[in-house]
Amino acid sequence: MPINRVAIVGAGMAGLTAALCFARHGIATDIFEEAAVLGEVGAGLQITPNASRILARLGVLPALESQWSEPDRIELVSGRSLRNIAYLPAGNFARSRWGAPYGLLHRATLQQTLLAAVQNTPGCWIHLDSAVNGDPAAALKAITGEDYDLYVGADGVWSNLRASVPGSPETDFSGNIAWRFTIDRKTAPSWLNRETVTAFLGPSTHLVAYPLKEVDSLNIVAIASGISPGETWDAEASEAQRAMLRSQFRGWNSNVVRLLEDAPKPTFWPLYQATNGRWQNGKDTVLIGDAAHAMMPFAAQGAAMAIEDAYLLAERVAGACPLRRPSPPSRPSGCHGLPRCAAGRSSIASPITHAARSASVATWFWHCARRSLWQPISTGSTASVRPETRRPSRHLIHYNI
Ligand SMILES: Cc1cc2nc3c(=O)[nH]c(=O)nc-3n(C[C@H](O)[C@H](O)[C@H](O)COP(=O)(O)OP(=O)(O)OC[C@H]3O[C@@H](n4cnc5c(N)ncnc54)[C@H](O)[C@@H]3O)c2cc1C
Repeated sequence: MPINRVAIVGAGMAGLTAALCFARHGIATDIFEEAAVLGEVGAGLQITPNASRILARLGVLPALESQWSEPDRIELVSGRSLRNIAYLPAGNFARSRWGAPYGLLHRATLQQTLLAAVQNTPGCWIHLDSAVNGDPAAALKAITGEDYDLYVGADGVWSNLRASVPGSPETDFSGNIAWRFTIDRKTAPSWLNRETVTAFLGPSTHLVAYPLKEVDSLNIVAIASGISPGETWDAEASEAQRAMLRSQFRGWNSNVVRLLEDAPKPTFWPLYQATNGRWQNGKDTVLIGDAAHAMMPFAAQGAAMAIEDAYLLAERVAGACPLRRPSPPSRPSGCHGLPRCAAGRSSIASPITHAARSASVATWFWHCARRSLWQPISTGSTASVRPETRRPSRHLIHYNI
């Protein structure tokens, strides 16, 4: 039986992209989003060529290119001395090497651009303020009166649709917190490069800075161990929590410590990741994006993987991999193609989620290049970017450089 009508739960990167991808194949979608308004949630995103290539096919890349910036390079810098250690060329190099751009933008910019495209695409309907709890078929029937051929769980790290997939992943607090704030680009301290992505490596913590052209700011993300405030993004930090953040950067360059001390209204969110598990129920439900494989942000690949998932799912549903085929009468009917789709995708995404678990230099930038693309800046033994000590933290590596 062909798939004619798809319900997508969640209007994040995965859900909105999925609606656009299904529309290319003439498949109608209803998107259900619990938020009443898609506002400015989250932080900056690095959109790597594997994702921008798909965004180009969907026709949204020009709108993004007019708002984002493309860094010339991605730099590794010592958190202690602020010495440049190595860099990876990006900008024009990325375009010619990977055939697609590497862009920096705010998550809200990407989400709004995808939303505008969805709203202008026939066959895509979005239902805001429509939380889907419990059994999706029953919940959605109550909202639209429709039955759907396929339910796509694009509802993020704390997915409700996971409960419809036996053996699906569980989420696990990583023990780490991402702190985030922006500073005005014009008044940013001179040691912060305003044009590049800079990853600072230091003792037990990790800091990344890059420009967000749309808001003329630098996006700063610091990752340190911490206690989860629960299932929330963008929690506001109390004075005690700010003091804890500063103390975790003890041993870092005093300029970095001052930057954190002066941070205007830092927000933080707990980093959860999904364990291994099934992404489909063999019948009518499939998980994509963070719902399937929420990962640590060190590989800057969560949104990119969500976009890839959406694209490949629609491709398979539309033809290459038929989801339903006649079942023998003795067996319940089901979507026999779903396991194949999910298994194929899993074989791609699993090494990435694995890589994203570690903050080592090689994995943090694994998506950008093989090691041979890294250009060392300084020479001598101190130029090594190997971690010298491993601390008990499950993810953060102690770089003594
Ligand atoms: C600090 C940090 C930095 C990051 N940097 C990068 C980066 O540089 N590059 C990159 O590619 N990725 C990055 N990521 C990862 C990226 O943000 C996520 O992987 C991505 O947003 C996942 O998209 P998604 O659509 O799967 O989920 P989400 O964006 O979380 O969207 C899920 C949607 O579902 C809705 N929803 C939830 N429950 C329900 C329900 N019951 N009913 C209806 N709607 C519901 C939510 O409101 C939300 O709109 C970063 C993450 C962090 C934490």
